[in-house]
Amino acid sequence: NGEKQSAATKAPPAPSPLRTSKFCQPNMRILITGGAGFIGSHLVDRLMENEKNEVIVVDNYFTGSKDNLRKWISHPRFELIRHDVTEPLLVEVDQIYHLACPASPIFYKHNPVKFLCIRFFKFESGNGYIDGQIIEAQNALPMILLTSTSEVYGDPLIHPQPETYWGNVNPIGVRSCYDEGKRVAETLMFDYHRQHGIEIRVARIFNTYGPRMNIDDGRVVSNFIAQALRDEPLTVQAPGTQTRSFCYVSDMVDGLIRLMEGEHTGPINLGNPGEFVEPSTPQTGEFTMLELAETVKELINPDVKIVTVENTPDDPRQRKPDITKAKELLGWEPKIKLREGLPLMEEDFRLRLGVPKK
Ligand code: NAD
Ligand code: UDP
Repeated sequence: NGEKQSAATKAPPAPSPLRTSKFCQPNMRILITGGAGFIGSHLVDRLMENEKNEVIVVDNYFTGSKDNLRKWISHPRFELIRHDVTEPLLVEVDQIYHLACPASPIFYKHNPVKFLCIRFFKFESGNGYIDGQIIEAQNALPMILLTSTSEVYGDPLIHPQPETYWGNVNPIGVRSCYDEGKRVAETLMFDYHRQHGIEIRVARIFNTYGPRMNIDDGRVVSNFIAQALRDEPLTVQAPGTQTRSFCYVSDMVDGLIRLMEGEHTGPINLGNPGEFVEPSTPQTGEFTMLELAETVKELINPDVKIVTVENTPDDPRQRKPDITKAKELLGWEPKIKLREGLPLMEEDFRLRLGVPKK
């Protein structure tokens, strides 16, 4: 298969196997860190549809899986590298989508110091791509897109959240390694941009769901669907009135590609505020967790119970993106409603959990 061990790809710099001659580079070479994960693997699928793209994935499989990329392994335009992005890696590419990062509270709370470092040092490892010999060898710097997060707004005091809002983040709480890590990552992106002229793109991703989400990663949509399929109670974390807006993964991938291909650095919010929903539909884009549980129950398992369980500190009470900027600058807005997206995710979870539809 196309996988390479990390030792073989570390310094001294060597041309990647995909590049046959530096004078013959008709294709766009795109690196996706975290490409074996949920959003990353869908991004790979979309980018591989374009025959002009060569795609390289770097992932250490901490939360991702080779299974998500099964159909591309051995494809001549695809390469998979097992590697931890906290270590330098030298590759010649035109674009970098930087997604590698444990995104679920279960995982980042497990070792917050290391995971704060992943986000903080990722641009140190970015040095591997962007300074020294590689720059000279390439004559052009790769563009880097950071997948930041709505968590940079913390527990927001402004609703919905526009990009101009600086946020309300507890710097010393249990979620801070994620929130502050992403804030520092944004700072580093803009400092690289100002100091070294690196072309950057910053996406602030709001809650995204869809097939291939890690089944037991603790996020709310994956938890509720897995619980409904296992006939277990849906665990609404108290108080249950906290809100989130959920974006289907294909819409998110479309937004990320438009951001990379467009002319605006961002930061740009990508998420689903539900503005396309007709007024006659009771459903909007922003749901309380209780409403989400009721929707999953209605669509997937009407017999399942809904229980309230303890929450963790600093849980944002409300969240909904203002996507005016994405609409105006990228011509982007989400198309898939929650009631359309949930059954697609259910289908994937049924297959993976081995629970056929009755
Ligand atoms: P995911 O956990 O499915 O994917 C992350 C991928 O990064 C995994 O494949 C994992 O193995 C890999 N990874 C983690 N640490 C690594 C390391 N040190 N070296 C190499 N690979 C590493 O998560 P996702 O939901 O696909 O999120 C992708 C990105 O989008 C993340 O940066 C996340 O912070 C951001 N984001 C996601 C959401 C969401 O709702 N899914 C919301 C906001 C931001
Ligand atoms: N949540 C919940 N039940 C669960 C998991 C999460 O009610 O089994 C709640 C959680 O308290 C939060 C919301 O769902 O208010 C979204 O949590 P998630 O971890 O999915 O995303 P984030 O907090 O990063 O928005």
